[in-house]
Amino acid sequence: MKCRKCGGVAVINMRHHRLALCADHFVEWFISYTQRAIERYRMFGSDDQLLVAVSGGKDSLALWDVLSRLGYRVDGMYVGLGIDGDDGYSAASQAKAEAFAEARGLTLHVVDVKQTYGESIPELAQMTRRGRKPCALCGLVKRHIMNRVAYEGGYDAIATGHNLDDEAAVLMQNTLRWQTGYLARQAPVLPSTHPRLARKVKPFVRLYERETAAYAIVRGIDYIYDECPHAVGSTTIFYKGLLNQLESRSLGAKLSFYLSFLQAKREGLFSEPGEALELNDCQRCGQPTTAPELCAFCRLWVRRIDKG
Ligand SMILES: [Zn+2]
Ligand SMILES: [Zn+2]
Repeated sequence: MKCRKCGGVAVINMRHHRLALCADHFVEWFISYTQRAIERYRMFGSDDQLLVAVSGGKDSLALWDVLSRLGYRVDGMYVGLGIDGDDGYSAASQAKAEAFAEARGLTLHVVDVKQTYGESIPELAQMTRRGRKPCALCGLVKRHIMNRVAYEGGYDAIATGHNLDDEAAVLMQNTLRWQTGYLARQAPVLPSTHPRLARKVKPFVRLYERETAAYAIVRGIDYIYDECPHAVGSTTIFYKGLLNQLESRSLGAKLSFYLSFLQAKREGLFSEPGEALELNDCQRCGQPTTAPELCAFCRLWVRRIDKG
């Protein structure tokens, strides 16, 4: 297989784009394809101060790499969840994120949940009613901390490494249950609805997971290969498998599933309800919440104190 640009040996064949490229031309293509998505969805501009949510995995580190190569002002943020103890999954992913930042002279904010709030995610999950699965708390806690760090640091937007496979899997889950509220909010850009909530952007939404993995490998990015141990067997992974089967029968199916959804939204499907939800300031942390007194994050910790 030959690179379409230079005739050299191709490292990847993107059949849905009818495009095979060598390592150098793939990197060049990947970076400009990301930049085009940033512009197409008006995610941010060169004046914006960005915060990348870094997990230590291929997508978030590749994103940080691309954004800094494109010249954006971009820092990273890692949330230490305390999964699998001192030398387990969280510790290993944190080490990858820190090594990446150090080698490139980039700024990484680290917030360790246990050091900051008193319990790790698995400990907290055990203490809540009927021992909820850690994943249910993980998203909530990460969102809260990212919003706090972005607000305190004056960042304009939080960028996450969600790729097309992630977005298509979530879209499929939401569609199978016609969760119109979630569908209305699933987008490449979520505008800020409150001064304490930063804009959320996903510059990789049009890139297949296979492409972000190839970019990380070609660029020599050292990332954590393992999935979070709690994600094994999750419904998202199941739907990704289904979509891969679909893609193998029908080239470009994932991309067109997602892009047609965005098109349908532009045409008025799933329009947001007219009245905005009323937001109150949480009495404990100050972040906006639809609840009358405490936000969902603070209720977690207060419940814990009540039990103790
Ligand atoms: Zn080439
Ligand atoms: Zn709160």
